[in-house]
Amino acid sequence: MSFLEYAPAPESKSILHLKKSYGLFIDGEFRDGHGTPFTTISPADESPIAKISNANASDIDTAVAAARRAYDKVWSRMSGKDRGKYLFRIARLVQERTRELAVAESLDNGKPIKESRDVDVPLVAAWFFYYAGWADKLDHAGLGPAPKSLGVAAQVIPWNFPLLMLAWKIAPALAAGNTVVLKPAETTPLSALIFAEILQQADLPAGVVNIVTGAGDTGSALVNHPDVNKVAFTGSTAVGRAIAKSTAGTAKKLTLELGGKAANIVFDDAPMDQAIEGIVNGIFFNQGHVCCAGSRLLVQENIHDEVLDRLKQRLSTLRMGDPLDKNTDIGAINSKAQLERIRTLSDIGEEEGATRWTAECAIPDKGFWFAPTIFTNVETSHRIAREEIFGPVLSVLTFRTPAEAIAKANNTPYGLSAGIWSDKGSRILGVADKLKAGVVWANTFNRFDPASPFGGYKESGYGREGGRHGLGAYLQSGWHAESQRALPPAVGSPAKPVRAAKKGASK
Ligand code: NAP
Ligand code: MG
Repeated sequence: MSFLEYAPAPESKSILHLKKSYGLFIDGEFRDGHGTPFTTISPADESPIAKISNANASDIDTAVAAARRAYDKVWSRMSGKDRGKYLFRIARLVQERTRELAVAESLDNGKPIKESRDVDVPLVAAWFFYYAGWADKLDHAGLGPAPKSLGVAAQVIPWNFPLLMLAWKIAPALAAGNTVVLKPAETTPLSALIFAEILQQADLPAGVVNIVTGAGDTGSALVNHPDVNKVAFTGSTAVGRAIAKSTAGTAKKLTLELGGKAANIVFDDAPMDQAIEGIVNGIFFNQGHVCCAGSRLLVQENIHDEVLDRLKQRLSTLRMGDPLDKNTDIGAINSKAQLERIRTLSDIGEEEGATRWTAECAIPDKGFWFAPTIFTNVETSHRIAREEIFGPVLSVLTFRTPAEAIAKANNTPYGLSAGIWSDKGSRILGVADKLKAGVVWANTFNRFDPASPFGGYKESGYGREGGRHGLGAYLQSGWHAESQRALPPAVGSPAKPVRAAKKGASK
């Protein structure tokens, strides 16, 4: 129940200048694809937004050829200083068109406008500014003298942070001197296509960045194209594993950013008000469609009841609804398929004996919605404690000692992120050191900074994005060894237990 009534405060769509249909962005211009076009919809009400071109294998050939030409003739010959100027220009144009990009992102993805406006798009600009600064300083990145670019990068991204994942991929690739062919997710192509308009506005030389829309087969044709030198993928572990297999034995350098099942550990001396906000931010930010979401809450047993009471109270004040309304805290689930997955896993949670609690909120008639949900009495063997739900669902487990917290936190095939809440610095450092996760947050969660490397190990993938390490993934020196590592076998397959690799680069 909310204590105050809010008047609707929707952001206007008039800023969008939407086209009825969008082509592929190849060699500096929009053109029709040869596959069957599809329609992208708003998940909040299932209304169509625009018709989108579909790239088939011949379009991928054309895009990769354009990227190769641009690499050979222009981008690899340009000075780092000049490449940097283009990146600065792109960053400034993103800032100028922030509102438009935020509206497009919320419309197409379903995320609340306050998140796209205050988190996604500002981070996109920050990523381009950050890597713009590196473009003429590659010699000083500690990655060897005069490090060389790789060539053409094939990049495939998911739907949860469409424009931000694009920035994480394109900014370091261009700064390091590579050209790009990028495929956005089928359900969220809109912001990438507006970004293509920004590239035209920035006068980026034709072919340096190409955007090809389509579904999984478009992505597959792209990463398997023989003339790409680098593959960067963010998405599910299943597809990541398939890409690792198909690129094995080729000269392609590979980075994989995959799923997660992060532990958010709350000790009994934690600053309680902040911890409650941190738990909410950890799992309900972006409807829980976050690879590093704090989806497993590990709470010290003696404060379990207090934390749960306060959490439920707080969740009851969250507002679910129109993503374009500035008061909205929880938006729509991105697709029908994802909603089905969240429902199925939540039902399994109940069947396996966990206790389900759901925040009371009105579910709109149309669109894809799932109210914030908490499971208590969860055991480590439950599927909701092991599998990534990728939705607004929190599984709560308890622990008594730091050693038990560490053991439970590490009891997952993933290793992307973790959180620790405690007043005691020595405890935070001691526990962080033993957590097998690429990123460990202390007394905060879901913080992103372009200077800080991000990535996982075990089934969360390999390689790092962000920071100096993120540059290494696009240069011939540096983070090479990462791409040679194999992903561990699928959960449940008969194999030796995976030993954790060296701690992630964020340490
Ligand atoms: P997904 O099915 O793996 O899709 C990711 C991207 O790959 C999409 O563009 C998809 O196209 C494309 N794709 C699908 N099959 C492909 C294939 N065989 N070859 C090449 N590309 C292919 O994942 P998702 O369901 O969209 O995204 C959710 C997952 O991403 C979660 O597991 C999440 O944890 C992970 N994620 C990880 C990070 C990270 O940084 N570690 C960040 C965000 C998300 P379509 O969209 O057309 O299917
Ligand atoms: Mg959409």
